[in-house]
Amino acid sequence: TLDLMSISKSFGSAKVLHDISLAINDKEFVVFVGPSGCGKSTLLRIIAGLEEATSGQIMIGGEDVSTAHPVDRGISMVFQSYALYPHLSVYENIAFPLRVQKMEKAELDARVQQAAGILQLTDKLQLKPGQLSGGQRQRVAIGRSIVRNPKVFLFDEPLSNLDAALRGDMRVELSQLHRSLDATMVYVTHDQIEAMTMADRIVVLNGGRVEQFGTPMELYHHPKTKFVAQFIGQPN
Ligand code: ATP
Ligand code: MG
Repeated sequence: TLDLMSISKSFGSAKVLHDISLAINDKEFVVFVGPSGCGKSTLLRIIAGLEEATSGQIMIGGEDVSTAHPVDRGISMVFQSYALYPHLSVYENIAFPLRVQKMEKAELDARVQQAAGILQLTDKLQLKPGQLSGGQRQRVAIGRSIVRNPKVFLFDEPLSNLDAALRGDMRVELSQLHRSLDATMVYVTHDQIEAMTMADRIVVLNGGRVEQFGTPMELYHHPKTKFVAQFIGQPN
């Protein structure tokens, strides 16, 4: 499990996360939704170790990783603006984190080929990012995460730069990816449809607090607050 225990975060005098506790199951697909500025990205960055919580703990599989270096957490984060290296091939973009680790060549090649296979990029490996479509580029960014074999994937609005049709395709692909990998996924989006169709469970955040954590059906049929009802699109 991925346990968030009483996570709070302040920037100066501004408190942006208030005592957030969530227990996310292994292999669960959990989606964070909520209005702009409610703290979604900050919470992901704290889980990834890119930002320090003001108080609270993060546990993975019962182990406290709150002070662990990002690379040692078994977590990989995919951003909205996926910065690929334009001068490197798709192969080298995917291999990049393994080069940094100085992984030996055969193992590195096997990992890159496996990720490319899952993401249907096998015939694109020698191209440069500029020769790819938006969806293919996003898949390269995901490939860079997959090769590290993380236990937990964090996605911060990974599809928001894509057009509607491509977003639909990528939703399906990400759901398939989730089924084919043995990993927990935490996914941030503004998009209610994305949340309702992809999530095992949804966390509705508002002003740095959890309004509700439940399955799409629970949120739809039994919203705990007016905010959840309005956000999910069911008037009560
Ligand atoms: P969006 O949907 O627009 O991406 P979000 O839910 O991801 O919003 P965050 O980026 O987590 O929101 O920001 C939450 C709050 O924390 C905002 O009010 C933001 O201004 C503030 N904040 C985020 N990072 C910092 C920082 N480094 N310094 C000061 N305030 C910050
Ligand atoms: Mg954000």
